Amino acid sequence: TEEELFCIGCGAKIQTENADERGYTPNSALAKGIETGQLLCQRCFRLRHYNQLEKVEATDDEFLAMLNSIGDEDALVVKVVDIFDMYGSMIPGLHRFVGKNPILIVGNKVDVLPRSVKHSRVTHWMMKQARAAGLRPVDAMLVSGKKATYIDDLLKKVEELREGRNVYVVGVTNVGKSTIMNQIIKAATGNNEDVITTSQFPGTTLDQIRIPLDDGSSLIDTPGIIHRHQMAHVLSEKDLHLVSPQKELKPMTYQLNAGQTLFLGAIARFDYVLGERASFTGYFSNDLKIHRTKTEKADAFYDKHKGGLLQPPSETEIEQFPKLVRREFVVKEPTDIVFSGLGWIAVHKPGKVAVWVPEGVDAVIREPII
Ligand code: GDP
Repeated sequence: TEEELFCIGCGAKIQTENADERGYTPNSALAKGIETGQLLCQRCFRLRHYNQLEKVEATDDEFLAMLNSIGDEDALVVKVVDIFDMYGSMIPGLHRFVGKNPILIVGNKVDVLPRSVKHSRVTHWMMKQARAAGLRPVDAMLVSGKKATYIDDLLKKVEELREGRNVYVVGVTNVGKSTIMNQIIKAATGNNEDVITTSQFPGTTLDQIRIPLDDGSSLIDTPGIIHRHQMAHVLSEKDLHLVSPQKELKPMTYQLNAGQTLFLGAIARFDYVLGERASFTGYFSNDLKIHRTKTEKADAFYDKHKGGLLQPPSETEIEQFPKLVRREFVVKEPTDIVFSGLGWIAVHKPGKVAVWVPEGVDAVIREPII
């Protein structure tokens, strides 16, 4: 029988089969690790030697156990969200688990917002969305993991809020938590290689990575859980990359009459149902091609051209793509119609609009952020 071996870093059971799963160690590193008594899984090895954090995904059970353990402790919870997908960033039931612990909401991808956006309006909206999900956040702020923007402010804010306690960083997958964690590690450790320690309790941990803070407390990264209501789960990786806002969004203005429709590729659709001729401003990735048509012909147009003229998704992927579901909004004052994971359309005049998004993916309205 095979002897059970554990990583001296995170405590995961060592395995050499599956590189994507916990405890993976390449065969080539196994013997040396055993010989030196320094057996680390590949993830802990990279973390220790290169200060580089790779992500792991938790199963639902592991994730619940982890959340429960946070609630048992007096700690600060930092929740990372994607500002382009607040709904897809929410952790179901988080409010029950964090108990009385304070939550700081950190909105990632500020680099993609147009310069004209008022950050305070975005954080205000994030607070509102978090409250709607049952959370009582103490504060919200914006960062960019990719561009390392406001990471110092984040560390300052965390220091101010944690009052000597441990800090748990939580988030669903795809919100950019790993990217932010790597920036935090860089900012917190500089070139000092040995600052990061992994857990001292082999076999009992839940893949938590601990970054020691000055007073003996730790900043703890936790595995992400999958949120199925994200564009990431209805699009291929290539299409997702194409339509996810990557660079600063440039506004595009459309003059529409009631009875006109905009298709966002074949992924979503916007109908101007009722109102005077008006201008609408779209904030989407340049690669998300917008087609205008008459609403009365839009269904037929979609059936004929989805996967063809209307892309993404491509012809081969459109078969798997969920059907579009319609939601109607009556707009009384300037409003943003937010397409989760894609961007938004600013509606400037009163009227009635309808939004079509893939079943399972969300569309919401908010007060304008510009
Ligand atoms: P995780 O699953 O939450 O750990 O997410 P990742 O860190 O792997 O990031 C998910 C995707 O978002 C990747 O494609 C990143 O390149 C992208 N991303 C992460 N942070 C930022 C950011 O600050 N700005 C932008 N534009 N993209 C980001």
